[in-house]
Amino acid sequence: MIGQMISDEIVEQNADGALRFVVGQCRDCGTQSFPAALICTGCQSDDLSRITVAADGVVYSLTEVHVGPPQWHRPTRLAYVDLDVGLRVFGHWRGDVCIGSAVRASIGEVGTTPEGEPLLTYVFELREMADA
Ligand SMILES: [Zn+2]
Repeated sequence: MIGQMISDEIVEQNADGALRFVVGQCRDCGTQSFPAALICTGCQSDDLSRITVAADGVVYSLTEVHVGPPQWHRPTRLAYVDLDVGLRVFGHWRGDVCIGSAVRASIGEVGTTPEGEPLLTYVFELREMADA
């Protein structure tokens, strides 16, 4: 368990702290899914494996949302990111990010639980910021 919001079924951290996404990969047609699907979205096979992939990608689209769950920080910054492995994923972003930015996901706080604990999940930011 990495945080209040996500589990090691979604992401894993290397010994050096680098985040990796846990992705489903179909053994029949190779289609990948994130979060890992139980049934292949390409061919409906149930013969899927789980692999991990680097949390590096390029921003496809992003937005800022000023309404939403009361526990989330506002504005809530959300994006679709095309991972370098070719998979499009949805997530939070922070920093000076725009469409086309090279980004990397790490664990970040996106809100506060009703108990006052940090609400944590993966958050994309510029790669050079993530490397700092
Ligand atoms: Zn398939």
